[in-house]
Amino acid sequence: ADEARIVFDNLTDRGAGLFHPNLRLGVAGLSRAGKTVFITSLVHNLVHGGRLPLFEAQASGRIRRAFLEEQPDDAVPRFQYEEHLRAVLTDRLWPQSTRAISELRLTIEFESASGWSRFFSAGKLSVDIVDYPGEWLLDLPLIDKSFEDFSRESLERARLPSRAAIARPFLDLVEGLDLHAPADEPTSLRLASTFADYLRACRADRTALSTLPPGRFLMPGDLEGSPALTFAPLPLEAGTLYEKGSFGALHARRYEAYKTVVVKPFFREHFARLDRQILLIDALQAINAGPEAVRDLELALSDILSCFRPGRSSWLGSFLTRRIDRILVAATKADHLHRGDHQKLENIVRRLVQDAMTRANFSGAQTDVIAMAAIRATREASVSDRGETLPVIVGTPIHGEEIGGERFDGDTETAIFPGDLPDDPGRLLRDSQPAANRQPPVSFVRFRPPRLERTEDGLLLSLPHIRLDRALQFLIGDRLA
Ligand code: GDP
Repeated sequence: ADEARIVFDNLTDRGAGLFHPNLRLGVAGLSRAGKTVFITSLVHNLVHGGRLPLFEAQASGRIRRAFLEEQPDDAVPRFQYEEHLRAVLTDRLWPQSTRAISELRLTIEFESASGWSRFFSAGKLSVDIVDYPGEWLLDLPLIDKSFEDFSRESLERARLPSRAAIARPFLDLVEGLDLHAPADEPTSLRLASTFADYLRACRADRTALSTLPPGRFLMPGDLEGSPALTFAPLPLEAGTLYEKGSFGALHARRYEAYKTVVVKPFFREHFARLDRQILLIDALQAINAGPEAVRDLELALSDILSCFRPGRSSWLGSFLTRRIDRILVAATKADHLHRGDHQKLENIVRRLVQDAMTRANFSGAQTDVIAMAAIRATREASVSDRGETLPVIVGTPIHGEEIGGERFDGDTETAIFPGDLPDDPGRLLRDSQPAANRQPPVSFVRFRPPRLERTEDGLLLSLPHIRLDRALQFLIGDRLA
């Protein structure tokens, strides 16, 4: 049934495409990677004719107009573009982050680049932007995994030195439990919530350990509190039968329900219909947290990327038509660095995804890696210090941010020396210093979105960015030729 459904969906998408070409662009990334900011800036820059010199169709003046239209999927929440934009432009606050899937249709009318086609008609392309939590992709491997295997792996990880302290409340609870006893709902709820607390705590700024499945425990969407989300990995004894109604049996059943009602529908109805994908990552946060966080990010990326090229014999591979033909991995928030370091950030990310990309066999799909800032919150300057000229970035740190003992009020522009990334990406993966002596390579303060100037005719200038145009050229440029 899955296969039939997918073929049908693909045909309907393609059929619609005959009359009105469209392209489904997936925007994914772990929580706070910058998905909401990226989509908001992309749409604003296209609708308002932003400065996009490397986005050829716009730079050469071929785009007649870009506008929002009704999205094709009635059952998917709409991406709240207007609300997000208001936060950025009016209040200079960052918008509310992605919590579940949402969608937005942006239609672009353009003149064809070749004289012949231009003569016949103007082109039109609808880009259906699908915003979804990257956490959900980590669920794919669960489909072919039994509750026993899932439990064993999850508990092994929770007992690792880097995680055991954070997982303590959950481990204590689970280790004191009689798995043969009749399951009661308050205990099940406590198991699920302490397990979810542990997964969430791994993601805190200082540790920045990447996410582990189940993805919905971190990003429940509208399923919070449902039975399919009320289970936890348990220390099952191999080969033991757990009687109906016991903790062992109930949690195994709910784990299976999670796969059937949560994981599979997402991959079938949304993921398998994407044409292009951008994967956003906050590499700077991991770099600052230290080698362990960087290695962890590398692992998570490898898990996520493997979703795009699943083996033919796997559940997803059996019906995925290898439709995604371009994948862009983008390190976000490059405006926290001086220009000289953008290339280094790109090299680091390239290095992090290199192995995963080779392993996942991306033949047939084009891939690229960039360092980008969807909304540039800083500008560059230099200051002289004792005869030396230092490159700095200037922005308004968010109220309450601190650096070197100084606390910011949220209204003052400040010049900050951002620090330097190492030339050799490999250094970030090796522990050269004990954690206690380690200095984060980059001074990281969060800045408020920039103040936008008005032109002489009273028009608001579009949102400034770093390399958003390069991302757009890669993701949709060829479809506007
Ligand atoms: P999401 O969870 O992936 O939707 O992440 P968001 O788009 O909400 O971004 C999370 C946070 O990262 C924002 O609140 C900003 O503080 C920061 N951020 C994201 N993109 C940028 C950017 O381009 N520049 C800067 N300076 N900060 C950004």
